[in-house]
Amino acid sequence: MNVFKPEKLFGIIGHPLGHTMSPLLHNWGFSEHKIPAVYMAWPTEPGKVESFMQTFRNLPISGASVTIPHKLSVMDYIDQLTERAKSVGAVNTLYWKGDKIMGDNTDAAGVSEPLRPYCDHVKKALLIGAGGAARAAITGLQTLGIEEIYITNRTASKAEDLAEEFKISALDWEDRGDQHFDLIVNSTSLGMSGKFQEINPMIMDNQDTNTIVYDLVYNPMETIFIKEAKTKGCTVIHGIEMFIHQGMEQFKLWTGKRLDENKVRELLLAQL
Ligand code: NAP
Repeated sequence: MNVFKPEKLFGIIGHPLGHTMSPLLHNWGFSEHKIPAVYMAWPTEPGKVESFMQTFRNLPISGASVTIPHKLSVMDYIDQLTERAKSVGAVNTLYWKGDKIMGDNTDAAGVSEPLRPYCDHVKKALLIGAGGAARAAITGLQTLGIEEIYITNRTASKAEDLAEEFKISALDWEDRGDQHFDLIVNSTSLGMSGKFQEINPMIMDNQDTNTIVYDLVYNPMETIFIKEAKTKGCTVIHGIEMFIHQGMEQFKLWTGKRLDENKVRELLLAQL
């Protein structure tokens, strides 16, 4: 009898973990590359991060994904942060470098990589929202070399703080629809299934076929923002692309191997 014996252990911490697609993605990747490893879901309540990190340090765990609400608190227990984790100011990936626990952030790549084919056309971008995902989005946009980045948020002070920290410009929430942008990224919760599903984060009067719309919300896939952008002839990028690219980047960090993007998309869309 053939018994599968994983040699390496990976997993995700977060709370609640709900329907996380990370185990599906990484276990499929291990199987594609014939890597004897397993990836598990480890629901971790707020306040239990320190004890998880002791476990990470003492048991043979090779790497972990970190999701809400632990992306900031985990930073207290890490030996070294990568430059991009420092830039985002949050950690979503743990791995070992020798005997050091490294904290990295692949969320910014989740924003930048789907936009890379279009970035030559993007001079002026608007980011809507100023929460956790917005920090990764700004780093992602800056990685692409986009010169003019505006940020707007319902709570203006949060947009102003991020504008100052990342040296971009804050825009009044009420004025967000008044001009044309080459790119608009939504990092608010507006459009998510539930009570926000029918609320569009953007007023689209000044957008046209030259506007690229990237909605980080991926449940539902076709958000109200994406639907309206399509009626305006905008190029649209769905939120699932961020999940795909942050996950592919994590897999590469842990294994040195690249996952086939089209196959990953097919796998995840089937799950959604
Ligand atoms: P967060 O830190 O809670 O931030 C929520 C953002 O939404 C804030 O800017 C908040 O504005 C805004 N918002 C909430 N309710 C609003 C309302 N009624 N009107 C206007 N603005 C409102 O959440 P996050 O971690 O940044 O995540 C934001 C979204 O990004 C999530 O909903 C998720 O769908 C998406 N996301 C996607 C991926 C992916 O892989 N595709 C990864 C991470 C996140 P205030 O500051 O005014 O409250």
